[in-house]
Amino acid sequence: MVTVSGVSARDPRSVEIAANLAAVRQRIDRACAAAGRSPDEITLIAVTKTFPAADVHRLLALGLADVGENRDQEARAKAAAASAARWHFLGRLQRNKCRSVAGYATAVHSVDRPVLVEALARAAADRPAPLDVFVQVDLDPAGQGGGRGGAAPAAVPELAALVAAAGPLRLRGGMAVAPLGADPDPAYARLAEVAGEVAAAHPAAAEAAVRHGSTHLRIGTALLGGRAAPVR
Ligand SMILES: *Cc1c(COP(=O)(O)O)cnc(C)c1O
Repeated sequence: MVTVSGVSARDPRSVEIAANLAAVRQRIDRACAAAGRSPDEITLIAVTKTFPAADVHRLLALGLADVGENRDQEARAKAAAASAARWHFLGRLQRNKCRSVAGYATAVHSVDRPVLVEALARAAADRPAPLDVFVQVDLDPAGQGGGRGGAAPAAVPELAALVAAAGPLRLRGGMAVAPLGADPDPAYARLAEVAGEVAAAHPAAAEAAVRHGSTHLRIGTALLGGRAAPVR
């Protein structure tokens, strides 16, 4: 029996997550086949908020190393308990949390204003590897961001330029959550348009995006199940 960090690969929860992971990967494979893309281009991020660090060890044992969290306090504790994972910070970011986040995160997906670029660059200055940054784009036509934050599309090129110019940060692209209750197709088309402008202005970031896979999927419920309380 294989045991990783005290979690048996055959405990019922590991079996459940393995089945969910297989189903999610099958859906990704089908979507990629339909779009003429390779599944190797896709980074699957398991969103582990509200779930224990033991689940992160189960995911690691199943070969999934990219995990995401949306709150610093919860993320920091879990990252300490499962430091072999690559931690993605997805949630709304406050300036005073940047130092903490830069201490454990591989990537921050929610940079939407210049003060965050400055604070992250300062906090990441003594890291061994640059901190990956995605500029979060607000795709809500009403500009409300659905409460999730995000820079207005018109502000994205300037923000991307700031990230690209900050040595300890590595611009990886744009990130967005489709607006709730609206057709996701025009929203994602708009994201592709904004990302295209950023790629044209920052060829190094575009090359990195292609090399490392330009699409990151953040999946929570389908992998780990329902959450006890709604957490944004
Ligand atoms: C919770 C969360 C997800 C995953 O949501 P699910 O519906 O559980 O798949 C993705 N992105 C962010 C920013 C989240 O907070």
